[in-house]
Amino acid sequence: MIYLDYAADSPVCDEVLEVFTKASHTYFANPNANHILGKEAKACLEKTTDEIAAMFKVKPQEIIYTSGATESNNLAIKGVAEHYGRKGKHLITTYLEHSSVTGPMSYLQEKGYEVDFVDILPNGQVDIEHLKELLRTDTILVSIAYVDSELGVRQNINQIGELIKTYPNCLFHVDATQAVGKLPIDTTYIDLMTFTAHKIYGLHGIGALIKKEKIFLTPSIHGGVSTTPFRSGTPSLALILSMKKALELAFAGESSHYEKVQAFNQLIREKLAHYPNVLINSSDKAVPYILNISLKGIKASDFQVKLAEKGIYISTKSACTTPNTPSRPVMALTRDRKRALSTLRISLSHLTTSEEIKTFLEVFDTCYQELSK
Ligand code: PLP
Repeated sequence: MIYLDYAADSPVCDEVLEVFTKASHTYFANPNANHILGKEAKACLEKTTDEIAAMFKVKPQEIIYTSGATESNNLAIKGVAEHYGRKGKHLITTYLEHSSVTGPMSYLQEKGYEVDFVDILPNGQVDIEHLKELLRTDTILVSIAYVDSELGVRQNINQIGELIKTYPNCLFHVDATQAVGKLPIDTTYIDLMTFTAHKIYGLHGIGALIKKEKIFLTPSIHGGVSTTPFRSGTPSLALILSMKKALELAFAGESSHYEKVQAFNQLIREKLAHYPNVLINSSDKAVPYILNISLKGIKASDFQVKLAEKGIYISTKSACTTPNTPSRPVMALTRDRKRALSTLRISLSHLTTSEEIKTFLEVFDTCYQELSK
């Protein structure tokens, strides 16, 4: 089995699982309980939050734990829109976003908010000139992914953030799900930032929203204050500790993992360039972890099935999109519906081996020859 779908999910790391198991036994008490076991759990939670906050150079009170990136994106977008709706009802996003960003945007459109989509340049990066044209005094939120999940394009977050800061009513939300642990993250101009553990060899069901202190949100989940008034519910200390471990490991390996994956990505690009019916969609602004291609005259789902029959697992698009519909990011980039309907996403990891890449390229060739007949 060769797994090349790491942008969708990653296998949990043993060390992370060990932390989870141990913490589940040690800190089973509710951190909000008034007795000694509760107080011990609370002290551990506070220490862990301090450490996670330090990794992102933010304040501990700026971390809101959630069940993952989908919840964080919903909380950020709907929470800002509802809280600041009196200042304006204009929102801006891109066609590159994950469904957990476009979903809340569509929901808000139905509630009377106006949503604009900023153009992207041929390299997949946001067209800053178009963003300048779209920004208004009643724009309350811009939501753009640090790295999108289909093309893997890395945005100029600081440049975009600096521009947004000239609009005092406007906040900047960044979905950093595909960037955290893979790139150095700079939160200077970011007001709200999403990430999740399961993309970085952590467990499912835990993520966070970083929300700068001065910002308010209408909560999505109401209840007791618990650790934060913005998200009720007993915090899962074991999951939080396990996410800290996943973050530590990802940050420690960040540059060496990047270099290793870059070499694999380069090799795949070089080899695939020889196939006349393969079009590379990820530009040189994409991170090496994601390589998106289109197949001319070959049904991508047939290709995916053929690869799977030979033990190779990749996806056609982001895992959370509707099957057999065009890829929105590729459509926005190329304005070519056929090309957007025939995408394959190869996503790599530091766990990928040279042997796996070699086999993948051989199997790719076999499938290509068979399906081109
Ligand atoms: N945002 C991006 C960019 C993603 O790639 C994903 C996962 O595919 C999500 C959000 C949703 O993450 P989660 O599964 O943690 O809700």
